[in-house]
Amino acid sequence: MIVILKPDMGEKNPEYRQILDFLAHKPNIKTRVHQEIGAQQTLTEIYLIGDTAALDKTEIESLPGVERVVRISEEYRVLGRHRDDGRATGFEYNGVKFSQDNLNVFAGLCAVDNPEHVEMMLKALRDNGQLCTRMGAYKPRTNPYSFQGHGKDCLPWVFELAGRYGIKVIAMEITHDSHLVEIQEALHKTGKPTGVMLQIGTRNTQNFELLKIVGRQRELPVLLKRGFGITLEESLNAAEYLASEGNRNIVFGLRGMKTNMGDPHRNFVDFAHVPVVKRLTRMPVCIDPSHSVGTRDRAPDGMLDISHVTAQGVIAGANMVLVDFHPVPTKALVDGPQALLLEELPYFLEDVAIAREAYEKRRELARNFLKKK
Ligand code: PEP
Ligand code: MN
Repeated sequence: MIVILKPDMGEKNPEYRQILDFLAHKPNIKTRVHQEIGAQQTLTEIYLIGDTAALDKTEIESLPGVERVVRISEEYRVLGRHRDDGRATGFEYNGVKFSQDNLNVFAGLCAVDNPEHVEMMLKALRDNGQLCTRMGAYKPRTNPYSFQGHGKDCLPWVFELAGRYGIKVIAMEITHDSHLVEIQEALHKTGKPTGVMLQIGTRNTQNFELLKIVGRQRELPVLLKRGFGITLEESLNAAEYLASEGNRNIVFGLRGMKTNMGDPHRNFVDFAHVPVVKRLTRMPVCIDPSHSVGTRDRAPDGMLDISHVTAQGVIAGANMVLVDFHPVPTKALVDGPQALLLEELPYFLEDVAIAREAYEKRRELARNFLKKK
């Protein structure tokens, strides 16, 4: 059960203490307080764990300072959608909004290679009105002899360049908790010219200790990729690990599933699950067409498979697109064969906008249909 307090109802309000005292007297009930301190207001939720079936919802709702009480199902306690759950989805980070109702594109390099390529990428993004990018500094590679990313050494110049080109959020994968510390230190030392969304990759979806550590910090939001060989439920529970530790600023990423059934794509594209994740949880949903498809193959209609699956995800309501670009893909140190070219960026963005507009029209159509029923 979640007791949602009225906005700005914090420790200083006498009603807050009264509510906690009231709940403390209930047998076999433990409370856990979660606060979201936003620019406009502070939202407080009290999670009740234990014998909640015995509690009277309306009695708690009648307490001064209580806005609403939601009975939660066992699944995805923090991130799930529950009955009568009218809570908003998503969050804002560094001036960029992430929710189930909007869309952000994160086009960028799979892996940071050199300042020249990073700057070319950032300039193209700025020239096309973009605020977000992807830049890998720590790369989990199948082959131990492959390039592993420049690591912490590249962080200061990547952050400074990103700030210079007006980038607000960089999606950056981490594979170890030391990477989190290195990113935080580099952001701090450079005066936070940009922001970072920590990416937990498909190979680490169930690295529970990493999830707990990342979940304990609330400064940086997290993009959690779905595990490529586990069930959707297992991946959503991994997201719940982050949230249960305190960080709910999570975007859930679909990136294709590992099975030869998906051939000739690198992975079996799973973007049909965009609306499913939105129904089960309140997380914004990201699609990664590059790591799903893995090639620049083109259909007879002239469109790349990457563009086709991007449109499929966006028309199904995706909220974020993570996509590989590179100024000179033949020189990319990781995933060159799937990278789009800078000259394709305006085309790609327009194609995404067409699919988004179609999604919004379809949503309107569905709403009008349901109103009439
Ligand atoms: C990536 O986005 O660079 C990446 C390695 O993705 P995934 O974890 O989905 O393979
Ligand atoms: Mn990659």
